[in-house]
Amino acid sequence: MKAVALTCPQCSGKLLVSPGVPLAVCNPCSRAFDFATGEKKSLPVLEAAVEPLGDSLRLPFIRFDAAGGGDHAPVYVMAFAISKIGTPYDDGSKLTVEARQMETRPGRLDVAPALGIETAAGLGRFLALRRLDPDGTRNLRPQAVSLSGPAILAMPFRVNGDMLADPVSGMEIRRTALNGQA
Ligand SMILES: [Zn+2]
Repeated sequence: MKAVALTCPQCSGKLLVSPGVPLAVCNPCSRAFDFATGEKKSLPVLEAAVEPLGDSLRLPFIRFDAAGGGDHAPVYVMAFAISKIGTPYDDGSKLTVEARQMETRPGRLDVAPALGIETAAGLGRFLALRRLDPDGTRNLRPQAVSLSGPAILAMPFRVNGDMLADPVSGMEIRRTALNGQA
């Protein structure tokens, strides 16, 4: 998948978009725009305030505030494309379970999101069960999870040769498996 250039409706900056994904990110103004509903819904782009040593690549996750079963927690859905299906890569559950509440600042992305908000929300409802009902005793169903406050989270993965490592959860990805990444 190749990123194409569009223009930010807010600052006229170049937008980072994936073909077919109604979610575009503006790096100059740290905003994202969801076009799925026909109107431009603006949401923030946040960067996790962790310092990866050496080179890093900021990869997109979509963060929601999830509530259900009398509790609430942040949920992180992996929003970058992986070229192979069936690889044991994490779908965001490691970050959802390990990261808790992360310190963030306005940020930018190096890779366009490959998921729209609606698709990410569908996955997010399942991921939320890991935090809101980890042992299943609450009998929480994905449909009973409510999600609010979407934001794009840029995770600075440390570049270590061909491997990328998330400094928070320890998740590792082979760089060549990333779609749209030169
Ligand atoms: Zn902008």
